[in-house]
Amino acid sequence: MRRFKVEANDSLVKCNHCGKEERVTFIYCLKNGWPKCCGYTMRLVETKADIEMNIAIICADATAQALQICSDSTTEGEKHE
Ligand SMILES: [Zn+2]
Repeated sequence: MRRFKVEANDSLVKCNHCGKEERVTFIYCLKNGWPKCCGYTMRLVETKADIEMNIAIICADATAQALQICSDSTTEGEKHE
C-alpha cells in the first residue's frame, strides 16, 4: 500500500553541469523557486505533478495575495496626515 502524499517529491530535477539529481515537490518549487546547483537552476527532468492544476493553485494564491496587497495599500493610501 502506498501512503505517500500526492504532492511529496513528485518531480526530479537535474544539474546540467555536474549531473546531480534531486527529488523535489513541483508546487513547492513553483512557490519558492527551483533548486540551484553549480550556479545554475536545475532542470526539470520528470514530474508526476499535475502541472496545470498546480499552476492554477499558484495563480489563485497569487491573485488572493495581490487582492490582499491592493486592499492593504488602498487602506494605507486613504490615510491622509
Ligand atoms: Zn551541479
